[in-house]
Amino acid sequence: MHPETELVTLGLARQEYEGVVNMPVCRVSTILFKNFADFEAAERGEYPGITYGRYGNPTQTALQEALAALEGADHSIIFQSGMAAIVTSILAFIKSGDHILMADAVYGPARRFCDQELKKFNVEVTYYPPDIGAGIDALIKPNTRLVYLESPGSLTFEMQDIEAIAAAAKKRGCITISDSTWATPLHFRALAHGVDVSMHSLTKYISGHSDFVMGALSCKKEHYKTLLYTSRNMGACPGADDCYLALRGLRTMSLRLKRHQESGLHVAAWLKKRPEVVDVLYPALPGAPGHALWKKYFSGACGLFSVQLKPAPHENIRAFFDGLELFGMGYSWGGFESLATLCSLGKSRTAARWPHEGPLVRLHIGLEHPDDLIADLEQGLARLNGKA
Ligand SMILES: *Cc1c(COP(=O)(O)O)cnc(C)c1O
Repeated sequence: MHPETELVTLGLARQEYEGVVNMPVCRVSTILFKNFADFEAAERGEYPGITYGRYGNPTQTALQEALAALEGADHSIIFQSGMAAIVTSILAFIKSGDHILMADAVYGPARRFCDQELKKFNVEVTYYPPDIGAGIDALIKPNTRLVYLESPGSLTFEMQDIEAIAAAAKKRGCITISDSTWATPLHFRALAHGVDVSMHSLTKYISGHSDFVMGALSCKKEHYKTLLYTSRNMGACPGADDCYLALRGLRTMSLRLKRHQESGLHVAAWLKKRPEVVDVLYPALPGAPGHALWKKYFSGACGLFSVQLKPAPHENIRAFFDGLELFGMGYSWGGFESLATLCSLGKSRTAARWPHEGPLVRLHIGLEHPDDLIADLEQGLARLNGKA
């Protein structure tokens, strides 16, 4: 089956629910055992079903099965946020005294978790240049346990040579985790490229409507129990209503992404020709940094990219943002609405300094007509030039 068909047909259980088209919302804490033998089996840890609401519910099971199929994984586990999935994926595989390698363009809060929490447990973290490829081998030490990838990187959108990094890590006995949120499971299946654990924030395009926060990890059989037990020990527990919304988001995701990509390319190509623009950091755009790797690994793109602008006075930057009518200023992305934020890289790049001085603006191109978005940006750039 094509992925578009899978998105429409996965995660349903119509025969169990009297033909109801959608998987119902099953709000659960207590689950009753049929008889004492089942209860005893649960006490022994041998009961095959769900024993308590914190360990899942039928709506969550449907979502997990749908995602696992989309990812080409044996199992998916759902978390109450993408961040909870990230934290669990790292903690599941490491112990005190270990060393881990994180991409320098990793999602900011994941970096903060490493710097603030892992440090307390004597775990050493090295941030590596995202474009390192097979060169990662030189950074792997005897106590290196894990290599974490994110492609393209947050804010700066560096593409990584995923197969080269995964192969080098495997040869040295390291686990690889890939944050693949930007690509969605529709455009990139990390496990097929040698990665051990694929992470997604479902908050973005799987929601598609900016109305819940959720994350997922997917893996082959060999890592499932490690991840499952750690997720349970961490109290991971998404809500059934949110699982329902995630399943609903899957149904339209291929259509939405197609439009986000088309509009993204249209707006990015326009921006690329503007005199205020140094570069458009959108791997899907021909000629953009990482375009060849994007073509090699991904079957499509989403609507998120950054624009490196030339230096401008702070009040003009403020005027650029404050006057925007269609682009909202807000975190997250992947919803139907367009967004614009100023990226502060600050101390979040340590492997190499970001070479530009001017403002870096991250845009999410939503489902509005792209020409309306261009008109909004054109007025914004006039304000940036002091012509308000
Ligand atoms: C948003 C995001 C996350 C975190 O997901 P939440 O659901 O917000 O916790 C992780 N990685 C990337 C690349 C993201 O954009």
